[in-house]
Amino acid sequence: MSFSLDDLPLRDDLRGLTPYGAPQKKVPVALNVNENTHPVPADVARDIVASIAEALHEVNRYPDREFTALREALAAYLGHGVTPEQIWAANGSNEVIQQLLQAFGGPGRSVLGFPPTYSMHSIITVGTGSTWVEGRRDEGFGISPETAVAEIERVRPDIVFFCGPNNPTGTPLDLATVEAAYDATDGIVFVDEAYAEFMPPGQPTALTLLEGRPRLVVSRTMSKAFAFAGARVGYLAAHPAVADALRLVRLPYHLSSLTQAAAVAALRHADEMLAMVDDIRGQRDRIVRELAAMGYEPWPTWSNFVLFGGVGDPSDVFERLLERGIIVRDLGIPGHLRVSAGTEAETTAFLDALRDIRLSS
Ligand code: PMP
Repeated sequence: MSFSLDDLPLRDDLRGLTPYGAPQKKVPVALNVNENTHPVPADVARDIVASIAEALHEVNRYPDREFTALREALAAYLGHGVTPEQIWAANGSNEVIQQLLQAFGGPGRSVLGFPPTYSMHSIITVGTGSTWVEGRRDEGFGISPETAVAEIERVRPDIVFFCGPNNPTGTPLDLATVEAAYDATDGIVFVDEAYAEFMPPGQPTALTLLEGRPRLVVSRTMSKAFAFAGARVGYLAAHPAVADALRLVRLPYHLSSLTQAAAVAALRHADEMLAMVDDIRGQRDRIVRELAAMGYEPWPTWSNFVLFGGVGDPSDVFERLLERGIIVRDLGIPGHLRVSAGTEAETTAFLDALRDIRLSS
């Protein structure tokens, strides 16, 4: 007798939903989930391992529930006058977002997001029993202050979600939009800055808006620029009262002592860890140039990936790249695929394969 999910007494609001599902395939060139494809430098890796070994001596004890050393290191890394009391961290920014929604969302509360955007924003919203409401973007995927305010007035959400630069489009987020949104709502304004380090150097981020805005929350991650996706470390900066709210919903000791030790060690080497960011930006700009030369339509991007249109049959091109050992992302946006910028060699492999496919079709 077969038994399936449908036979379980699942929550009604979860019935029929699809889980997060970026394919995980072992291929030589994986450019599908916007990872940093450069491994952690060997000397940094040695220091991280030594720090984990040290932490292991006390692994019989629960970790520092307040991850004090990590909050200090993250605050120092962020700068902008952010203090350790303003920092909160968890196992990836996905968990940070989940805790945020556990505290400020939930049944009867709504979240306004602006698709196409990071798929987990809506998945976590629904998973916490909150209601996801789709706002509209302007032409070209931007969100003007006027558009944001109009959508907030229409939806009256409890939480507004922005993503800057936006995944999957790479579109920059206008800080005037964040300011206008904040003034237009009494709710939480959340800005996901997972890709902030890939913005053009010197561009202001939403961190510059935190002062005097206690309902503004800015999240970051070590998964992208820091090449630390497997370690699972994400964090946010906000008014210290926001961290107090998250203490109500987090599981005690949610960040393992090994994770804390690894992240603090990596942050000691921030400069070296981030040395690849310039290379990645260079490969991203190369992808934009070369795709345009091939006749595709890449969107402007401030991130470590490129969304490009002009793809006749995205699922066919996806499969043909896969046959050549290259995985990109088909997000179901008609005529589009998304590719992460890799090392120079990976990027070359992708561009050569695509050129080949284009010529043979
Ligand atoms: N935010 C955005 C916009 C992302 O694209 C991702 C990962 N793809 C995340 C958050 C999650 O990152 P993590 O949980 O690894 O910190």
